[in-house]
Amino acid sequence: MKMNFKVSKLLCRTLTTSTKIPRVCIVGAGPAGFYAAMHLSKNLTQVNIDIIEKLPVPFGLIRYGVAPDHPEVKNVINQFTKVAQQPNVNFYGNITLGKDLKISHLRQHYDAVLLTYGAEKDRMLGIENEDAKNVIAARNFVGWYNGLPSDKDLKVDLSGHTAAILGQGNVALDVARILFSPIDELKKTDITEHALNCLAESKVKELYLVGRRGPLQVAFTIKELREQLKLSNCKTIWRDQDFIGVEKAISNLQRPRKRLTELMVKSYQESQTAIENENTKYFKPIFFRSPRKFLVDEQNKIKGIEFTCNELQGDTLEDQKCVATDKTEVLQCSLAFRSIGYKSVKADDELIFDTSGLVANNKGVVENVSGDLAKMYVAGWLGTGPVGVILHTMGNAFQVAKVMVEDLKKSDIPNIKGGFEEIKKHVLKNNTHIVDWKGWEKIDNFEIEQGKVKGKPREKVCSIVKMLEIATQ
Ligand code: FAD
Ligand code: NAP
Repeated sequence: MKMNFKVSKLLCRTLTTSTKIPRVCIVGAGPAGFYAAMHLSKNLTQVNIDIIEKLPVPFGLIRYGVAPDHPEVKNVINQFTKVAQQPNVNFYGNITLGKDLKISHLRQHYDAVLLTYGAEKDRMLGIENEDAKNVIAARNFVGWYNGLPSDKDLKVDLSGHTAAILGQGNVALDVARILFSPIDELKKTDITEHALNCLAESKVKELYLVGRRGPLQVAFTIKELREQLKLSNCKTIWRDQDFIGVEKAISNLQRPRKRLTELMVKSYQESQTAIENENTKYFKPIFFRSPRKFLVDEQNKIKGIEFTCNELQGDTLEDQKCVATDKTEVLQCSLAFRSIGYKSVKADDELIFDTSGLVANNKGVVENVSGDLAKMYVAGWLGTGPVGVILHTMGNAFQVAKVMVEDLKKSDIPNIKGGFEEIKKHVLKNNTHIVDWKGWEKIDNFEIEQGKVKGKPREKVCSIVKMLEIATQ
């Protein structure tokens, strides 16, 4: 059981005054933040950890990224909840670094600051008409079906026959599976009601999955492809030209890539014989095509995509690069999802990003930090880039937390830091309502109750105002 908020605060302050317990602030309550908190509290005899989160609710992409039909992946939430319920760990939601407070405040009032605020924008293609209607970022579509407040009003128009997903990673496959999953299956998940209603009316029958390289270089993984291939009433059609030489290359591949390619070749060979009916939907991966421009009608709505046809160059199969030819190809479609990866934003001017768009760091220690304030660290997607599953993020968070533990053990905690008591003064200047763990538990219970009415695990609250109302009741 979590200790009463005020009692735990008082105790922390008293202990800090007498024994100089290090105070650590973690910014971002996603997997990186929670795994780091777990490692720190396990490996330091005494430590106070405050987790500051932009949203009133915790868990980052576990809640707002992981697909609703993958509930087993979300089980890590149970581990994170145990971390948050420790008396020396506090969650403070609805506080945004860069808006409600600055890094300099954190470095002044804590002994160590760990940034784990992820990658919450998407990469752009940088091509003509990318702002056309019905050209949607997969990131926003994912946020929309998962109930991210900023994406709840996304206009999703599924009235057309043909759609295309640009990019061939696991996010692209999540989008494809959600678009083509039977509604009765989705109904049992925590997908938002607005998405469910819209998907139930979908007229999309043909879905392209477009890659700039070949079948040997896809970024998605075997489990996700297998799920897509198994969808009922969905026929996958591969193009003959894309598979020239692929079967021959299999024997030279390393294990995970080898099995994935074998599955693609098997599916390619079987697709000729799949049974079809009037309800069949068509999933069509195509390769060696880079988007060149979106073609639009008079209303600036997408009506097609012009592609550059590519060739591959380079010795090692998996690392071959695509090179543009002078050939182009047009695909008619009325909806496109850009799924070419996420990117991090600079939340505070004090941060220095390196050329690959990450906070410049050496094994998680933030470089080029000015002054003699608290040391700063970075973990998770903000430090590694927007790649890797939860397991990778966990490994990275543990590694960085290990460095922090060593540093904190070595350092003589110089004076007593004010921690959140001081930070709160800055936050409250903006009239921000702070949501603590108890507040989140109220939102959690509310969502679970709402879900019961509909036979779902939960119905997420998609409005920040409503979340705050529930949390402060
Ligand atoms: P995040 O999870 O993004 O957490 C960052 C947190 O920081 C968020 O809570 C955010 O609100 C907060 N924040 C942002 N800005 C600020 C700010 N300025 N101030 C304070 N807080 C802030 N992995 C799997 O293993 N299985 C899957 O099925 C899976 N599905 C995925 C589906 C999608 C669509 C995506 C994008 C990723 C998926 N992943 C999956 C990968 C997994 O989600 C990541 O490895 C992991 O979430 C990265 O953790 P993180 O803590 O670095 O970032
Ligand atoms: P990703 O795996 O990096 O895939 C990005 C895709 O976009 C690749 O196919 C890439 O092709 C393509 N791309 C990049 N820039 C492009 C451009 N300019 N033009 C055309 N294509 C371009 O990214 P993601 O799909 O966003 O996934 C992020 C991470 O989350 C991954 O590690 C993923 O495994 C993980 N995730 C996991 C799950 C799961 O486990 N179920 C679900 C979702 C996400 P190139 O290879 O040619 O660069």
